[in-house]
Amino acid sequence: MTLTDSVVSQVRAASGRPVAESTPMEVWHGLSSAVIDRIADDWSATAKTYAATRQEHYFSAEFLMGRALLNNLSNLGLVDEAREALAAHGQDLSTVLEEEPDAALGNGGLGRLAACFLDSCATLDLPVTGYGILYRYGLFKQLFEDGFQTEHPDPWMEEGYPFVIRREELQRVVSYADLTVRAVPYDMPITGYGTRNVGTLRLWRAEPVEEFDYVAFNSQRFTDAIVDRERTHDISRVLYPNDTTFEGKVLRVRQQYFFCSASLQSIVDGYIAAHGDDLKGFARYNAIQLNDTHPVLAIPELMRLLMDEHSLGWEEAWEVVSQTFAYTNHTVLAEALETWEMTIFDRLFPRIAEIVREIDRRFRLDMAGRGLDQGLIDYMAPVAGTTVRMAWIACYASYSINGVAALHTQIIARETLKEWHDLWPERFNNKTNGVTPRRWLKQCNPRLAALLDEVVGSDEWVTDLSVLARFADAADESVLDRLTEVKRANKADFAAWVKEREGVDIDPEAIFDVQIKRLHEYKRQLLNAFYILDLYFRLKEDPSLEVPNRVFVFGAKAAPGYIRAKAIIKLINAIADLVNADADIDGRLKVVFIHNYNVSPAEHIIPAADVSEQISTAGKEASGTSNMKFMMNGALTLGTLDGANVEILDAVGDECAYIFGAREDELGELRRDYDPRWHYENVPGLRRVLDALTDGTLNDNGSGWFHDLRGSLLEHGHEAADVYYVLGDFDDYRRVKDRMAADYADARGWARKAWANIAASGRFSSDRTIRDYADEVWRLDPTPIA
Ligand SMILES: *Cc1c(COP(=O)(O)O)cnc(C)c1O
Repeated sequence: MTLTDSVVSQVRAASGRPVAESTPMEVWHGLSSAVIDRIADDWSATAKTYAATRQEHYFSAEFLMGRALLNNLSNLGLVDEAREALAAHGQDLSTVLEEEPDAALGNGGLGRLAACFLDSCATLDLPVTGYGILYRYGLFKQLFEDGFQTEHPDPWMEEGYPFVIRREELQRVVSYADLTVRAVPYDMPITGYGTRNVGTLRLWRAEPVEEFDYVAFNSQRFTDAIVDRERTHDISRVLYPNDTTFEGKVLRVRQQYFFCSASLQSIVDGYIAAHGDDLKGFARYNAIQLNDTHPVLAIPELMRLLMDEHSLGWEEAWEVVSQTFAYTNHTVLAEALETWEMTIFDRLFPRIAEIVREIDRRFRLDMAGRGLDQGLIDYMAPVAGTTVRMAWIACYASYSINGVAALHTQIIARETLKEWHDLWPERFNNKTNGVTPRRWLKQCNPRLAALLDEVVGSDEWVTDLSVLARFADAADESVLDRLTEVKRANKADFAAWVKEREGVDIDPEAIFDVQIKRLHEYKRQLLNAFYILDLYFRLKEDPSLEVPNRVFVFGAKAAPGYIRAKAIIKLINAIADLVNADADIDGRLKVVFIHNYNVSPAEHIIPAADVSEQISTAGKEASGTSNMKFMMNGALTLGTLDGANVEILDAVGDECAYIFGAREDELGELRRDYDPRWHYENVPGLRRVLDALTDGTLNDNGSGWFHDLRGSLLEHGHEAADVYYVLGDFDDYRRVKDRMAADYADARGWARKAWANIAASGRFSSDRTIRDYADEVWRLDPTPIA
């Protein structure tokens, strides 16, 4: 059947009406079902092929997938056909695509990384499956009320979602001491570009073992029956809106165990079906990558399954476990590493608690045998008093430990995980993050993709981004002018999108300067805000100042309990109110805070960006991945030497990136006698900016938040002032950013730098990252089905 025929019948089945009379949402459902119909046979064939071979299983509490339909159409080469099929019935593909809700099952970079990885694994025909939780509510929806962030539920699949298929027959039981639940898998097909292989993301949903406890119900204990039912549904109800410290601890641990246990049961059963029931060979056919410590409970759970259900002894089981798991670290802060109270384990799963204690006991013996001193053993032991340290369990049990950018890997080896590195340096390796060029270039920036097709002479770059390096010098003036034209057209589209979405007029001729990422003090949105405020005052003081027009774009969610982050959002919105409405400024400066930042807004924003703000305090950002998305789309990086920025600079060269600020290896020394007050008093303009927070220039609606923000930078309370060195880096940031703005006037020169960034972005394709994981960690071969 042609796609056209399939679409027509699927839409009619979804809406009960002809395509022309169906709503865009109904057309979205129908077209999506047609895509599933199209890939069903290959999906099944892929699963069968992978079952027989060595596989990797990617465990992650978060998958920030974004939208699926365009991604699938594009991978399958069906975009034009779909557009025509809809047009024949008076429907517009772009309108239909915008109907799709984002699958926002993640907080930010860590979850989006998992999504990019799945795309690359499918494209490279690698036998990899993702495992996570089908959260009913994705990351909260963000609105602004009087400039304050408010959080609202995101019931993203309430109206049905064709891209996950319920696999009732593959359900498992997960048992807690106080509750037994069913785990039902919902499988999402992961298509690759230019391949028939279709991978799988398996997301588990918690359901009551029986839909209702009739005994309790009939004995008039209505509430007991309902409470248990709700406690079960709670497990997959909501993604925790925080990527550093977690609230609702018991429930969070319950969630982690839930998807680890269900996934391992399904993997072990798959192994037995394909290779027989001698579990000692398990690690020959299976590797499991732990995306941060959230899935570390998989380690004691696999021990339990091997010993209690498949009668291996401890040593045999440990041998298997320690050849199965690989751990990816995402944070440099030792204090941010996840720990839990042992009492939670005792209450939820006494057997897992017992296994963890036994791992701890054996670890201590093992280390004493190696001659480690008691202080060191106590520091590294999985259990400290009543606390379980998930990262230490991961380091002890894993055959591979990796950081996510070269600098980050150096820091964890030297500091965060130093003691482990001293013991097992061979376990440590770097895997610099990457992003998929399918979503982050081909799909979101079709104009640039068309230019690349032409320059390269084929679409080879889509699956091998490194080929662009061959064309680094191929950009003659006509190519550069066309690149400028592509950017201009993208900016015009973006301006229309912003007008519609946020009600703000922006000038497409202005420099579009963008910072989009979770709101964190270490990411220093505050530094950017202070620059804008300073520039505003400079323009007020001297209206004849010759600076290009500027549009500053922000997108960021703050964890609901992170008040200081919410204060920064309020501050930026207050600056926007001040600046955008000022008749003296007359549009020379605009500030737009895009509400509800997410994957699909990112796809609108990034192709239009001129400047990519990557300004974290050096040493704090593990890698960053938006820096890579911007680079691919020809935005120039304004950044510190942090995370993958270091490698971006290395790839593109000094002249094509704007680097400022204290370096990681200087900060220790600089911080020793750092006095933010000195900067306040001596750096021109800083006093004016900081005073504006509290002198009535900016309105925090009586919250007192701006006073607190100012205090966090200047006052030595119980915590050190300005921990993230905002004032220390301000002067250099302003100098480099001013220079960057001045350089923009030379359109050709700017385009040359933009081209250099695009051409050098090959290293930051997640295809490169995944090839490295497959070769060096997973030892996995491409396994095409045809
Ligand atoms: C890429 C991405 C991120 C990560 O951004 P960083 O700037 O690297 O922190 C976060 N959220 C979304 C929606 C993304 O697409």
